Amino acid sequence: MELTRSLYGMTLTELEEWLKSQGQPKYRAVQIYKWLYQKRVERVEQMTDLPKALRDRLEESTVLLTLQEVTRQVAKDGTIKFLFALQDGSTIETVIMRHDYGNSVCVSTQVGCKMGCKFCASTLGGLIRNLEASEIVEQVMWCQRLLDKTHERVSSVVLMGSGEPLDNYDASMKFIDIITEPEGLRIGQRHITVSTVGLVPAIYRLADEKRGITLAISLHAGDDETRQRMMPVNKAYDIEQLLNACRYYFEQTGRRLTFEYALIRDHNDHLEDARKLAHLLQSLPCHVNLIPVNYVPERNLTRTSKNQIQAFVQELQHLGINATIRREMGGDIAAACGQLRAEHSRERV
Ligand code: SAH
Repeated sequence: MELTRSLYGMTLTELEEWLKSQGQPKYRAVQIYKWLYQKRVERVEQMTDLPKALRDRLEESTVLLTLQEVTRQVAKDGTIKFLFALQDGSTIETVIMRHDYGNSVCVSTQVGCKMGCKFCASTLGGLIRNLEASEIVEQVMWCQRLLDKTHERVSSVVLMGSGEPLDNYDASMKFIDIITEPEGLRIGQRHITVSTVGLVPAIYRLADEKRGITLAISLHAGDDETRQRMMPVNKAYDIEQLLNACRYYFEQTGRRLTFEYALIRDHNDHLEDARKLAHLLQSLPCHVNLIPVNYVPERNLTRTSKNQIQAFVQELQHLGINATIRREMGGDIAAACGQLRAEHSRERV
């Protein structure tokens, strides 16, 4: 068993195996996990109940903190958005959102994205690289350390920042294993949401793992033609294939699905679209999250008016679909996916 370069990239089991290979007792892995995730130390030397030789060995072969904060924006509603630089200089975004029920952290899973959705800022420069599990864990830990100052905790995590989590499947799942570890940060599976453009084979794979996490599908349209115009992935997996996979996910996990629907004026926001959507989803236990599209300068899309959003949600509800309008957070900062990173790179050119 190799030691991964960042301690934040190791599951408890991996750490136990590595310790075994070092002639160390297994229980040291729990000790290390408690230091990392419960006491939240920033240096190995602070893990004072580990033997000095083990600390030295960890110190010489691993790193703990690899993210560097480039900028931070704080919105009036308390939303905090970070732009972090990774060790190779790439930048990613992470957001803390304050809700009545607790703090939720939105993490990025890739630098950039290759899915090409026409309304999204994250995909403008294509995919640069996948994040390592440790780089995703570090985003949460950074937020938790900030919240520690006010005795708050990260209560839920959404994989909804830049990137497509199911296109970086292994790292995303390892990340979930690490943050849900009972000896560690202990975030409940039910408090984790993975959002996807709809990579059908990966949805089946995820369903078979029978995790208790919520799956959110970026649907954004009620028919293939409309969806295809907005989301190139629809050419590979159409709505019917996608919804079959969603039904399978529900059957395997018992988890109700979430569908995200960004309303874009005259693209997908007519009542006829709401009816098509309702028809598609009528027999699937689900919830629809309506999102007024966020402005992205390069995209030139207009949001649906408040009245039309109301009419749209009422039409869905009238047709028996559980639908709500997502409360907008951080409206006065660049809080939508990829916006801060895009702004940052615009400024540099
Ligand atoms: N790749 C994943 C997760 C990242 S995007 C996915 O597509 O689901 C997170 C959510 O933000 C998705 O629902 C995405 O469609 C939506 N989104 C992206 N750009 C947006 C914009 N300009 N306005 C509103 N929602 C947007």
